Amino acid sequence: MVEIHAYLCKNCGYCVKFCPKQILEIGTQRNRHGHFYPHLTDAGACISCAICASMCPEGAIELPEKGDA
Ligand code: SF4
Ligand code: SF4
Repeated sequence: MVEIHAYLCKNCGYCVKFCPKQILEIGTQRNRHGHFYPHLTDAGACISCAICASMCPEGAIELPEKGDA
């Protein structure tokens, strides 16, 4: 499952743009730095490709289960 650390997000939009399943969307709430941040619209559709995590320049997205494998 993708873990989004909202407080690190700067709303660059890369994760939203590059998710092959198009299931990341910038929400309507701001983090403590004033940036809107993404959430998953359909967690069940996530294929754990980790593209979102690789694209994020802020390290705001993690896929913890990848490390467990
Ligand atoms: S891991 Fe892949 S499919 Fe899942 S949200 Fe990230 S980019 Fe999209
Ligand atoms: S790539 Fe990272 S910093 Fe950019 S919108 Fe997504 S979570 Fe936020």
